[in-house]
Amino acid sequence: MYDAIIIGSGPAGLSTALNLQIHEKSFVWFGSRDMSDKIKKAQMIDNYPGLPGIGGQELLSRFDEHRARMGITITEKTVTNIMPVSGHYMVLADNEMYEAKTLALCMGVVNAKPLAGEEEFLGRGVSYCATCDGNFYRGKKIAVYCNAAKYEHEVEFLADLAEEVFFFPAYPKAGVQRENVRVSTDYPVKIEGSLKVTTLTLRSGEVLAIDGFFILRNAIAPTTLLKKLAVEDGHIVVNRRMETNLPGCYAAGDCTGRPYQYAKAVGEGNVAAHSIIEYLDKK
Ligand SMILES: Cc1cc2nc3c(=O)[nH]c(=O)nc-3n(C[C@H](O)[C@H](O)[C@H](O)COP(=O)(O)OP(=O)(O)OC[C@H]3O[C@@H](n4cnc5c(N)ncnc54)[C@H](O)[C@@H]3O)c2cc1C
Repeated sequence: MYDAIIIGSGPAGLSTALNLQIHEKSFVWFGSRDMSDKIKKAQMIDNYPGLPGIGGQELLSRFDEHRARMGITITEKTVTNIMPVSGHYMVLADNEMYEAKTLALCMGVVNAKPLAGEEEFLGRGVSYCATCDGNFYRGKKIAVYCNAAKYEHEVEFLADLAEEVFFFPAYPKAGVQRENVRVSTDYPVKIEGSLKVTTLTLRSGEVLAIDGFFILRNAIAPTTLLKKLAVEDGHIVVNRRMETNLPGCYAAGDCTGRPYQYAKAVGEGNVAAHSIIEYLDKK
């Protein structure tokens, strides 16, 4: 069992990881090898101390160099479920279970509101994980919503299994070209069914008959991941020690609220790591 699991590879996750590494705690850090799109996309950053006028790409390279120099690796997996179990946490990442005594939630902010029916049908036809649930849809009709091209390999994996795939990329120039994949520029708005999902309504009014709906987003709402987590206006509630309402569970960065800034994310990641170290030492 790890001392900690860090979820999210932006500045908050990096700061948490650096401090846990310095204090020789064992941890696994989930996120993207590219760390965070929000760093890469910034044209020029003028409010990060010591690095005036730095470009996002350059800041990303500096962060990544720091990570590598400290011998820290990012496990490129998306966490889709967290379960508290007798004093520790079980975390499901791309169909594999990991366990840790503490959690650092550094997932950034989720801009997208869940689709109508998404939470109601999660586990009953709605899935966030192609690897975990793809096999249930062999020879069936499915829809896939995807908000980043980096998930297209998962769409292709699903296309190998399903009979027909309605594909909704939320970005230009989708790269999936398969006979059984219908790429659409329409937008899914409502998931319906009874025991399981049966239909998906699109913005145009078209209604698709489907057996399952995969939502491949680079962020999942905190309460969807961890049911009993206290959230206010979409942000995780924390105190000054970055403690959430759940023992051993800490949060840092944009996911705890405004202002959405690198320096705040890094500072909160630092505090979260120190609180984790104190919690582990007391245990
Ligand atoms: C265009 C742009 C310009 C900006 N300019 C500035 C600026 O000049 N100055 C400034 O201070 N701030 C700026 N910001 C804001 C800054 O980017 C954010 O405040 C900062 O990136 C937040 O860091 P974070 O670690 O909290 O989250 P993020 O950077 O959002 O990182 C979170 C990471 O976690 C991953 N993740 C989420 N859920 C999961 C999961 N379930 N499993 C695995 N991984 C997951 C995400 O994919 C992402 O990679 C800018 C943002 C944008 C978009």
